[in-house]
Amino acid sequence: MTQLPLVIAIDGPAAAGKGTLAARLAAHFQLPYLDTGLLYRAIGKLMADRGHDLDNAELATEFARHLDPEDLKRGDLRGREAGELASRVAVHPGVRAALVDFQRSVAGRPEGAVLDGRDIGTVICPDARVKLFVTASAEVRARRRTDELVAKGRTVDYDTILAEVRERDARDSGRKEAPLKPADDAVVLDTSDLDPDQVMARAIAIVAARTAA
Ligand code: C5P
Repeated sequence: MTQLPLVIAIDGPAAAGKGTLAARLAAHFQLPYLDTGLLYRAIGKLMADRGHDLDNAELATEFARHLDPEDLKRGDLRGREAGELASRVAVHPGVRAALVDFQRSVAGRPEGAVLDGRDIGTVICPDARVKLFVTASAEVRARRRTDELVAKGRTVDYDTILAEVRERDARDSGRKEAPLKPADDAVVLDTSDLDPDQVMARAIAIVAARTAA
């Protein structure tokens, strides 16, 4: 029996398999799960819907301060467009600051929680008992994303997706505020040669090792 609270922080670049792993770990350990990318996606989408300039840091910060958790339920947040919009508003320090309390309120639940994003282990939950940095080569991530979209009947081109993946990596890793990087005490899990079941098995072993310590 794992001692509670158990906070599992999962970070990593786009399309590395974080979301799938986070949802499975949350179900396995019966913990709440917060996909923090949705917060940034919702802000990007709300601003774009209203025709606002995503580079307007003050305005984006206002949107972040007034974000309604109901906005996270809108159906159009998971796509590529929302991901691009998200990474543009995520560079603003005011936006990030406005979202900290909400994320920590989930992480602070009595039983713990699973959170995935870019700065969970470094900024939001520096004391998380388990920190995973889930990654894969840009080529593998682009291939997975292309296959996913093709399976949904979309016409997409691998090279375009690869360019998008690289551009998002550069923006997320290169920004001044909370850049994407593994926390010093994170375990790096490279999923390039692993299927989702193998990733899950490794993650459970890492959680077991961390919680036994
Ligand atoms: O994880 P997801 O692809 O949904 O994230 C979309 C974008 O939101 C990321 O590319 C990143 O720019 C931003 N993000 C962030 N910090 C988080 C989660 C997401 O900056 N904790």
